Amino acid sequence: MSEGLSGLLPWHSAQWDALVARRHAAALPHALLLSGPEGLGKKQFARAFSQALLCAAPGADGQACQRCPACVMFNADTHPDYQRIAPKEEGKAIGIDQVRELIAWIVLKSHAAGYKIALVAPAGRMTMEAANALLKTLEEPPDHSLLMLITDRPALLPATVRSRCQKMTFTAPGHDMAAAWLRRQLGDDAQSAGPLLALAGGAPLRALRYAREGVLDQRARLFNDMLRLARGEADPVALAAVWDDFDLRQIVHMLSNWVADMVRLQTAAQAPLTNPDLRTGLAALAGACPGKRLYAYLDQLSETARLLDKPLNARLLLEDLLIAWPAAR
Ligand SMILES: [Zn+2]
Repeated sequence: MSEGLSGLLPWHSAQWDALVARRHAAALPHALLLSGPEGLGKKQFARAFSQALLCAAPGADGQACQRCPACVMFNADTHPDYQRIAPKEEGKAIGIDQVRELIAWIVLKSHAAGYKIALVAPAGRMTMEAANALLKTLEEPPDHSLLMLITDRPALLPATVRSRCQKMTFTAPGHDMAAAWLRRQLGDDAQSAGPLLALAGGAPLRALRYAREGVLDQRARLFNDMLRLARGEADPVALAAVWDDFDLRQIVHMLSNWVADMVRLQTAAQAPLTNPDLRTGLAALAGACPGKRLYAYLDQLSETARLLDKPLNARLLLEDLLIAWPAAR
């Protein structure tokens, strides 16, 4: 991992200090629920705190020393008192077998006579059976155990599980802190930090992932296609075929951002925008359609986003969105 992605991220210090204070007071809970939008580094935080708990010589700020035998094992992913469970395959659930194995492991004494720590991420991916199996351990946790459940969608967890956990919420850092951090990560490409953060809803790690995936280029191509669609130079069904491989959630997010900016431009030509780099094109689009069609389209976008949680034909949804593009002739 590059510098800045391991250890403590600058916007985590309040949560970090709170946990370190509880550790010093010997008042750590046995279960933590870390929630907040994707891309804020919740897993990194949980990992850094796990390492600090297992470290033989943490610093005054509570951070792991990175040098003791426990830290060496932790950094090599071989520490016997730390485990993380996740879906075995991308897009799959965390099954009851995985949770049962975790419970069988966590009830045993720790190797180093200290904590045994388990991360469950994304916790919302547990099946109902898996979550119920975990509930028993949450109700009667072993003395030496710490379970950290990590989710960007806490509502997916049963209320019984949530209520057994101490909650810790993460929010996006202020723009200046996020942009400064992201510019350091981007190096030569630092000028992309603003548009990337806007696209990522202010979540710095998500913005960094977008940079690596070339999402800004895809955004430029999609915007150009939407301009062509508005001028009657492209066919919506043919465009849907072109964009079929692209993450529909991402497309919905971009279109929502653009249409919201178009609404702002209809209110005031100089309105501050989420996408200031696209102002000229957005103004042309905003001038080409009545406001009530924009609002109807925003409704369609949020309905599409809701449907994306269910298995369905993404291509058909995309075709519907492109056919309904409100600025089209
Ligand atoms: Zn250490």
